[in-house]
Amino acid sequence: MIAGPWVSVWARRGKNYAEAFGIEIPRTFDWRVPTWGHAKEVLAIRIKRHAGVPNPDGKLDGDYRKIVGKFITKWEPKIVDARQGKNGFAYNASGSWGGKRSLDGLYLVGHYTGGMGSLQNDAAYHVNGQGWRNLSYHFAVDREGTLYWSNDCDDLTWHARGFNSKGIGISFVGTDDGPTDAQKRTLKWFIDEAFSKGIPFLGVPKLTKGTVHGDSPYSTSCPGTYGRIFYETTMGKFFTRNP
Ligand SMILES: [Zn+2]
Repeated sequence: MIAGPWVSVWARRGKNYAEAFGIEIPRTFDWRVPTWGHAKEVLAIRIKRHAGVPNPDGKLDGDYRKIVGKFITKWEPKIVDARQGKNGFAYNASGSWGGKRSLDGLYLVGHYTGGMGSLQNDAAYHVNGQGWRNLSYHFAVDREGTLYWSNDCDDLTWHARGFNSKGIGISFVGTDDGPTDAQKRTLKWFIDEAFSKGIPFLGVPKLTKGTVHGDSPYSTSCPGTYGRIFYETTMGKFFTRNP
């Protein structure tokens, strides 16, 4: 958490105090207000004084309160745009993919890469070995916890045979041993955000269902022993076995 300086604003009593700070949230509390939407800030608010302080016209007015607050930057992972050949990722505009689709009712599908190679190498294999357009997952996380955004969620790509039309694929570089602590932090951030409100700045809709690759129609060991446990635990009530 990185806190900015304390700033003060005037707000009419009963007004949404966060609104007074110029951010949009559904309701207000008197201390520490998380934001919704794509804003990166969390607003901490302390009501310094209550009624009887001068209003902006200089008059004592019980309807006004002086609100003191500060913006706190919420943690989010380092994010790298890996779409359309950016940042060293292989891409072939005429490679195979399924086109654009609706964002309604999609599942988050958990994968692992099944190896320790770089995501750039995986992308090169998907493009040159498989004939696909690019790295076929929508998102992937390297060993250090950096999140790579390789496809938009409305891109129908090939990551879970028989389930691609319903799935948004997220993967981590790793084996049966499961994700590193840094990967877990990033994956948990992604999953929590996606299932609570979506991630608008990454084009991720609010999701209500998740599963893992191994539970899609064609049997596979992906995402490995500990990867499966991690995804199932983190998705919690949204996890669906054999959807
Ligand atoms: Zn998989």
